Amino acid sequence: METVRTIAWMKEKAREARLDQRVIGFVPTMGALHAGHMALVKRAKKECAPVYASIFVNPTQFGPSEDLSRYPRPLEADIEKLTEAEVDALFLPEAAEIYPKGFSTYVQVEGLSDRLEGKSRPGHFRGVATVVMKLFETVEPHFAYFGRKDAQQVRIIQQMVKDLNLDVEIVVCPIVREADGLAISSRNTYLRADERKAATVLYRALVAARREIAAGRRDALELQRAMRKEFQGEPLATVNYAEIVDAGSFEPVVRVTGRSYALLAVYIGKTRLIDNMLIEPAGEELAATI
Ligand code: AMP
Repeated sequence: METVRTIAWMKEKAREARLDQRVIGFVPTMGALHAGHMALVKRAKKECAPVYASIFVNPTQFGPSEDLSRYPRPLEADIEKLTEAEVDALFLPEAAEIYPKGFSTYVQVEGLSDRLEGKSRPGHFRGVATVVMKLFETVEPHFAYFGRKDAQQVRIIQQMVKDLNLDVEIVVCPIVREADGLAISSRNTYLRADERKAATVLYRALVAARREIAAGRRDALELQRAMRKEFQGEPLATVNYAEIVDAGSFEPVVRVTGRSYALLAVYIGKTRLIDNMLIEPAGEELAATI
């Protein structure tokens, strides 16, 4: 697998692939690769050739008190995983390559970026949209693969693609979980043993909400109550938000009727974890996917 460090060289490769009528698949990541990332790569490999991945711990999407400097960076292991998965090239730019001196243009997806994750992490989605826009411009993918784990992020990227008429199709992949239900995340490595155990409470809360849905309950408050009950039994957990929102607008709903998400952001000790459940109409019923 080739490692590409400059925008100019990555653009050249993408241009050649496009000239050869090849279908470019792209998996953007911040590294510390795990089974969630590798599921995106696998899907991309099935549908595209060449497949390019990127590793870039994007400084503009971290708040001043967030974990930018201690974010895990196991580069050697990451390269090994991508090589094994037969990724064609890794785009691995330095921060100064993406944000050179004097950089001053940002992408802001309004409205959607201000709620939930955006409210708890001011500026986060501006950083995400800006870097993804730059990555798309560099890699020129036909298909770009994202995880439903970051549901609001995908929704914002989709809005950006639509609004800016980008020629890329966003493919949303399911959440990959540990055997006990915890959504896999690079941040799980921050958890102590007792916190790791407690962290399954996010999954348990979603299962409780799914049970309510299956029992025919549609009232958002009732679903929230079922989730909160799980958190009350877990002293290491502090809920940041537990909301039922419309899947398009990410505005809270009173009753679940159409496509929606149950969204969670929860501190386990000092580590902030997110997770979600997709609720979709299925005939007369609603299907809930964790
Ligand atoms: P990150 O490296 O955290 O920026 O994530 C890169 C991509 O991997 C994003 O599209 C995430 O949504 C996706 N991702 C992270 N964790 C998971 C997971 N457990 N299951 C599926 N996708 C994931």
